[in-house]
Amino acid sequence: MALSRRAAELRPSATLAISAKANAMKAQGMDVLSLSAGEPDFDTPEHIKAAAGDAMKAGFTKYTPASGIVELKTAVAAHARKTQGLEYEPKQVVISVGAKHAIANALFALVNDGDEVLIPAPFWVSYPAMAKLYGGVPRIIYTDGTAVLWDPDSAHLTPVEAGYKLTPAVLRKGLNAKTKVVILNAPSNPTGIVYTPEELAALAVVLREFPGAWVISDEIYDCLVYAGIAKSLAAVAPDLKDRIIVINGVSKTFAMTGWRIGWALGPAAIIAAMGDYQSQTTSNPTSIAQKAALAALTGPQDSVATMHAEFAKRRILIADGLNAIPGFRCAPADGAFYVFPDVRGLAAMPAVLRALKMDPAKGTKGFSGALTTHFLESAKVAMVPGAEFGLECHLRMSFATSPAVITKAVARLAESVSALTKG
Ligand code: PMP
Ligand code: GLU
Repeated sequence: MALSRRAAELRPSATLAISAKANAMKAQGMDVLSLSAGEPDFDTPEHIKAAAGDAMKAGFTKYTPASGIVELKTAVAAHARKTQGLEYEPKQVVISVGAKHAIANALFALVNDGDEVLIPAPFWVSYPAMAKLYGGVPRIIYTDGTAVLWDPDSAHLTPVEAGYKLTPAVLRKGLNAKTKVVILNAPSNPTGIVYTPEELAALAVVLREFPGAWVISDEIYDCLVYAGIAKSLAAVAPDLKDRIIVINGVSKTFAMTGWRIGWALGPAAIIAAMGDYQSQTTSNPTSIAQKAALAALTGPQDSVATMHAEFAKRRILIADGLNAIPGFRCAPADGAFYVFPDVRGLAAMPAVLRALKMDPAKGTKGFSGALTTHFLESAKVAMVPGAEFGLECHLRMSFATSPAVITKAVARLAESVSALTKG
């Protein structure tokens, strides 16, 4: 086979693959309701689109510096100061092709072959795959303290009594002398959890015990918080700032997923290495998208507030709706726009296992995959199996979609579950 080992091992992102499948079904005329993609349903605000148009008309359509234009780096630094009280100079900012690209580049800059990359579960689908691409060994730490090397085919079921938050004791269990990077993400995709500043400070105590471990702190949802405060780890533990890379971007906050602008903030030497990598691989992020991102950060913020208020209503709508379905347990998200209902109740019902053609002797392995396939085929509701996020018997649903779609999707799921439980 001509494929390289790395290419042969790589699977497509489950979140993107399932969203693409739902869109393809819609294109065939099927009435599919998609709760799969983590992407705001709002249009990009007009003034941002206008800035891109202006840039195009002004001929800002050529290469820019590979690591991004200095005006945008300055605006990113100002935004980090305003929202998090963080101080960075433009040379400590690299602009990338979305936050995903920034995370990948950070892993490139930090990880040597065989280094461990510690990833608390449940995790965003791309972290382990990216860590592996750069030669790292992804180690998954579950909230009950179980630590395992990542295997894309085996999601664990952590006792939900242990909750979805990483505690200092559990973090300590996952770290060792080989850990080069820890990837933290709050507000979390998929659970929507937010750490209090005190909880983050307690995690920082443990990180201080492992001076060789860097932190990639994915804070892409830090402006989408409905309960609590989402503080940046770098703001809570400034003494660790020289080994924290903060990731953020415009995709979620400004409904700009397709523009592909994200960034990393961190020590100048690492940021420079990330920029050099871009100069040899992608070159600059799209010139006009950079101007659009600049307008997003420096222009009026009222559309951000409007979208935030809408998400805040939907978070309750979806959690209440799902909690009324037998076998679902769903906490409302404190941040981001996802819920991660626990469906162990359904997995415990023999009629459901029979209907999904699952062998009860084999336990719950594959349950979330079978259930999401069933929901897509029978109820035409798309979502992502929890197993892709490292946790079986959970489902990830996005509420970045209209209340009408959420209401209809919940009704269809209730009907589908009722049929399933009857056997
Ligand atoms: N991190 C998390 C936790 C995400 O959910 C996403 C989803 N898009 C990203 C990073 C990547 O963002 P972007 O679209 O800017 O690449
Ligand atoms: N992050 C979003 C999600 O989890 C978008 C898809 C992706 O980038 O993987 O659905």
